[in-house]
Amino acid sequence: MTTETRVVFDLKDIKTIQFECKTCHSRFVCAPEKWNAMPLYCGNCKEPLLTEGTTQHQSIVYLRESLLNLLKFYQESKLVVRFEI
Ligand SMILES: [Zn+2]
Repeated sequence: MTTETRVVFDLKDIKTIQFECKTCHSRFVCAPEKWNAMPLYCGNCKEPLLTEGTTQHQSIVYLRESLLNLLKFYQESKLVVRFEI
């Protein structure tokens, strides 16, 4: 018999956002409500992580704005957004 474990969570369950440098594996970790900006360089090895103006950078900006807005209006929303991992 094979079993599979699935984890489903909604946005309010997110405790931290973690960004990891693929070069040195150091992490930038913050709570969603404290996520003010995205580090463009690794705080440890100084490797560039994102380039401003690129699609990837803009996507991170949109992700941050979307997450914060969805959390801000969580109580009054009639929609629950869940992710499964
Ligand atoms: Zn690094």
